[in-house]
Amino acid sequence: MEMVQKARENLGEGGLKSVRFPEPLESAFNEYYGDKTLKHVRVALFTGLILYAVFGLVDGLLLPADRAHMWFIRYAVVCPTVVAGLAFTYFPHLRRFMQPVVSLVMLVGSLGIVSMVYYDPTPTKNYYYSGLLLLIMGAFTFVSLRLRYAMCWAVATTMAYETVAFFINHTDITILTQNTFSIVATIIIGAFSNSLMGNYLRRDFLNAKLLEYENRQLQNATLELRRLSISDPLTSLGNRRHFEVMLDQEWLRAVRSEAPIALIFFDIDCFKLYNDNYGHQAGDNCLKLVAQELGRFARRPGDTAARYGGEEFVLLLSGIGLADAATIAKACRKAVEALHIPHSHSPVARVVTVSAGVAAMIPDLDADRQQLVEAADKALYRAKLKGRNNVVASSRDTERRGRQVYQQAVS
Ligand code: GH3
Ligand code: MG
Ligand code: MG
Repeated sequence: MEMVQKARENLGEGGLKSVRFPEPLESAFNEYYGDKTLKHVRVALFTGLILYAVFGLVDGLLLPADRAHMWFIRYAVVCPTVVAGLAFTYFPHLRRFMQPVVSLVMLVGSLGIVSMVYYDPTPTKNYYYSGLLLLIMGAFTFVSLRLRYAMCWAVATTMAYETVAFFINHTDITILTQNTFSIVATIIIGAFSNSLMGNYLRRDFLNAKLLEYENRQLQNATLELRRLSISDPLTSLGNRRHFEVMLDQEWLRAVRSEAPIALIFFDIDCFKLYNDNYGHQAGDNCLKLVAQELGRFARRPGDTAARYGGEEFVLLLSGIGLADAATIAKACRKAVEALHIPHSHSPVARVVTVSAGVAAMIPDLDADRQQLVEAADKALYRAKLKGRNNVVASSRDTERRGRQVYQQAVS
């Protein structure tokens, strides 16, 4: 991107200066140029074809023998070549040869005019020469030839014309001088226009690149902001907001599929004592370790582990019922205990432990997700009452229609 920014500064507002980007930017620009000008090239070739063909009406004013030469050049040589050039633009995989091919088509067109100048029975009237000027303007502007191709084409065309006019037709030197001046002046004006157009395209190309880069940056920043807004900075688990969003989402999914949804509430036992004895910093580290461990149990796409607040965590498990959720909660409890984080002041164990409350439901449209949260919270409360370092699963609630809140003690 630095390269693009630097190139943009160098280019300024475009203008007439000759610019070439460093690689690989130049190659990317060439591709951009090809894509951007493709339509112009087609329109230009098509218009050129029509004009070339229509000018055949003028040939009709000539004597039949002379007119035959002109029509042969027009309709048997140049027009088919332009049609072939036009067809070539429809082969995308040959697009990198577009500039040389269009230059060649233009060369056939210009040599066609030079031949007409040669066959012109009234050379002093200068009828056919004016076609060359039109073609020069077209080559530098309309057909979007790159400056180097247009220049090569112009030099070849001018040389062919001068050779025919001077050596073969012996055109009057005054007329030839005037014509040559007009050709050179047209080439100069054409080259300026071409260079201006080329630099404007270069500017558009760089601006598009910068815009694309800024959009990407903005997108990344938005994603990062979104990530930050739903993640807990200390433990990197989802935060409470994230949990609530996921609960909404999974709840609706469970309603649709009539599948169970389970929730486990965790609370670190005697964490105040831990903080008081080991300090707040150690408390933070402990939270991180416990969070990491619990996070490992959110294994499937619909599962979410989050920090609910303080030293409380939740594990939302979709598609599983109370018994399986209780099994997972017990595994979590064991895993935290197995971390062996010393907690010598805990009345429960020598290490940091958690208590867990489990609830599960098969929700329907009438059910309220808050019911699930309350059931898990109540179960956690009972786990604490039972002496901590415990798992309690809700026992079956009153069986209202469509709701199944299980309350069943398991420790
Ligand atoms: P119980 O077994 O009943 O859960 O007792 P407890 O001490 O764990 O519960 P209590 O609610 O009395 O204390 C929770 C403590 O958690 C108090 C608070 O200082 C601490 N805590 C909450 N958030 C953080 C945190 O981000 N970092 C640290 N280090 N401590 C925190
Ligand atoms: Mg608590
Ligand atoms: Mg606690």
